[in-house]
Amino acid sequence: MHMARRIKIYEGKAKILYEGPEPGTLVQYFKDDATAFNAEKKAIIEGKGVLNNRLSEFFMSGLNEIGVPTHFIKRLNMREQLIRNCEIVPLEVIVRNLSAGTFEKRLGIKEGTRLPRPIVEYCYKDDNLGDPLVTEEHIAAFGWASHQDMDDILALALRVNDFLSGLMLGVGIRLVDFKIEVGRIYEEDFHRLVVADEISPDSCRLWDIDTGEKLDKDVFRQDLGSLANAYTEVAHRFGVMPKSATKMQKPKLIN
Ligand code: 5GP
Repeated sequence: MHMARRIKIYEGKAKILYEGPEPGTLVQYFKDDATAFNAEKKAIIEGKGVLNNRLSEFFMSGLNEIGVPTHFIKRLNMREQLIRNCEIVPLEVIVRNLSAGTFEKRLGIKEGTRLPRPIVEYCYKDDNLGDPLVTEEHIAAFGWASHQDMDDILALALRVNDFLSGLMLGVGIRLVDFKIEVGRIYEEDFHRLVVADEISPDSCRLWDIDTGEKLDKDVFRQDLGSLANAYTEVAHRFGVMPKSATKMQKPKLIN
């Protein structure tokens, strides 16, 4: 592989982190691997990594632009972006606007029901445990994040929700829910929190406002059709991918 000379720091289900060109930076590589149900279901979706790299760039640079700090520095190529190295808080921070997924199952609230206000949930990041839901009591008792961190994480999550919801609304998409990860960047005696990992249709639920069509990883989870086509649709609405870059063209006969 062309990146073999680089030092691999970490390999996850959908991404690989390599040592970056300067101290405090990493290169984040987006794979085509799709997993669901804690990696019980797996597939390679050709082009997914390219789409998520572009979409995550689009959302993260928009957040940077409005003063919501993220780990994103710049996109390097089709599958890689330069990011700030940060210490990941071991939580999945989930924001929900409508009922779906595990929330729907847990509370018996019909899919698509609008919640009275955005609800933020925390899951402890541990694949062996299936990322269990935890409360701020667990987070404080085990020292996963301080009280101040939790205040900042809540504010960050709600700002990301407002920004993303508005952005999606502008292209006819409803932001049902999403997951972010948060990282700490140390600066002398203190640290600040940034949005880390990725923001893409792998980590959001996105429904077309007019048709209700799902344009996110549920297409893969629930076998609803082509995941690549769904993500391509999202990318096109934001104008982030040229049509030819992802759609496989059939050979054409030329007379
Ligand atoms: P749920 O808890 O309903 O499965 O997920 C809520 C939201 O968080 C969905 O948008 C889902 O895609 C995202 N999410 C939850 N857990 C994970 C995870 O482990 N990985 C990713 N990529 N997204 C997740």
